[in-house]
This record gives sequence, structure tokens and C-alpha cells, in this order.
Amino acid sequence: MASVSEIDLHTHSRASDGVLDAAELVARAAARGVRVLALTDHDTTAAVADAAAAAREHGIDLVPGVEISTSWMGHSLHVVGLFIDPDCGILRTGLSDIRGLRGVRAETMARRLARVGLSDPLGTARAAAAGGVPTRTHFARAMVAQDFGADVAAIFRKYLRPGKPGYVRTEWPALEAAVGWIRAAGGRAVLAHPFAYRLSGAWMRRLLSAFVAAGGTGIEVVCGGGGPSAVESATHYAKRFDLAGSVGSDFHDPARRWNDLGRLRPLPDGIEPVWQGRIAV
Ligand code: AMP
Ligand code: MN
Ligand code: MN
Ligand code: MN
Repeated sequence: MASVSEIDLHTHSRASDGVLDAAELVARAAARGVRVLALTDHDTTAAVADAAAAAREHGIDLVPGVEISTSWMGHSLHVVGLFIDPDCGILRTGLSDIRGLRGVRAETMARRLARVGLSDPLGTARAAAAGGVPTRTHFARAMVAQDFGADVAAIFRKYLRPGKPGYVRTEWPALEAAVGWIRAAGGRAVLAHPFAYRLSGAWMRRLLSAFVAAGGTGIEVVCGGGGPSAVESATHYAKRFDLAGSVGSDFHDPARRWNDLGRLRPLPDGIEPVWQGRIAV
């Protein structure tokens, strides 16, 4: 029992770049033993109400969440907001502005990817997004369908990473602004997948100082796909910066098995859980 967490506070639905709709996501989570689930789509809360309704049917707790795209010192960083009020006007305006930036970026990406031979890039990416928030993942899926690579990971490596032909540098809202919106919405701001940014120790300490100064109160200590050494390192940062710990798979797609639901290890002892005082578990 103690080896797998019943909590997962970082997941995506089709409202952003997940492949399941909210009801399918909640059903899969429940079937795989998740009792407390946060839906944290990129820059939108559009599917939170549907997820909450499905969670009531399955008898699990749904934590309203969002994963916000931010910029800090030239890095793109993701901040997860948990326990947010999706109706908060300040949060809604901020997220709507980011979706505007994403729309403009998608048009620029489409022009660049047309040059490498992708047919109807904007149309196919929009079709992949199906009315949801357009992301690089949607372009990657469109490119897999047109045989530009074997899978989404190969497309990112060849086309969508910094320095590659389809990459468009985007200035997202400042880290501090995103943390402010989450706090305005009554939520807790959590630094997502802290080792995905490949920061040195010195930069990680600078980032966490800035994050705490802005009002951030949590860090993902247990992440999908991360091994024991990542947990140990994140635990060290959590303690050093007095941050609460979160656990989140970053689930998008059952085919990406390393971030599947229901396989996270529990939060280590000695770290304050980010859900403390918010939900009884
Ligand atoms: P965006 O926010 O539009 O820049 O897209 C970022 C999303 O792309 C992330 O949330 C991941 O879901 C996905 N992603 C980023 N890097 C990779 C990668 N190397 N392989 C597969 N998916 C990736
Ligand atoms: Mn994603
Ligand atoms: Mn992320
Ligand atoms: Mn994510």
C-alpha cells in the first residue's frame, strides 16, 4: 500500500494536450487507484467542471488546477496552481492572455513548419487540438501523422526543441505574475517538474528564492518518470526553501507509460504535503 501514492496532482485532458477527455481521465485515475486527482491543463481550466462532475460519480476528490506557462530569466518554466477558484477574474484574464500568445505562436510555428514541408500545419494542428489550447504537442502529433518522425518524442528532438526549425521563442507572463494569479484565485503555486529545466544548482537556488519571494509555496517532489535520486534532490530543495511537496504524474497519454496514472511513489516523510489542510487523506 505504501509504495504507490493515491494522490496525483498534475494531469492533462484534451482541453490542452492530453488525449483523454475529462470524464475518461477521471475514470482511468479511479480505476488505477487514484483517490485525489488534480486536473492541471496548460493555461486553461475549461475541463475542471466536467472533471469534478465525473469525480463525484467515481467517489474521488478532484482538485481544481492549472499549469501556467511562465518566463523567468529567459527560461520557460511551468507553475502548477492547485485548489484554485476557476471563476477568479484575475486568473481567468491571465490565462486568456496566455492563450492569445499561444494562438499567435501557433501561426508563426505553422509558417516555419510549412517551410520544412508540413502540409496545412495550422489546420492539422488545430484539428489535433480540437478546440482546446494549441501546444507544440499538437503540432508534433500532426507531424507524426504525416510521417515526419516515428513518435512525438522524435518530432520534438528534430523540429520543436530550442534551436530546431519549428521552435518559436515565446515571452510568457513572468513567473511572479502567474504566482500572483494563483494566489488571487485562492490557490497554492507549485513549481512543476523542477528538473525538466536543466538548471545548475546555483540557478535552481536563484529560481527557488524568486519563486518563494513571489508567493510560491510548493514544489513537485515526486514526478512521473522520475527515479529515487530526483525525489531525493527535490526533497533537499523543498526542505532548504521551506516548500510543501507535491506529487504529480504529468499524465497526458496512456501510451506514455512512464507518466501513467497510479504509479507515483508517495511523498517522503518530513515534507509538508501541499494538500495539508485542504483535503483529508
Ligand atoms: P508548449 O507548452 O506548447 O511549448 O508544449 C509543451 C508540451 O510539450 C509539454 O507540456 C509536454 O507535454 C510536451 N513536450 C515537451 N517536450 C517534449 C518532448 N521532448 N517529448 C514529448 N513531449 C514533449
Ligand atoms: Mn503538455
Ligand atoms: Mn509542464
Ligand atoms: Mn504538465
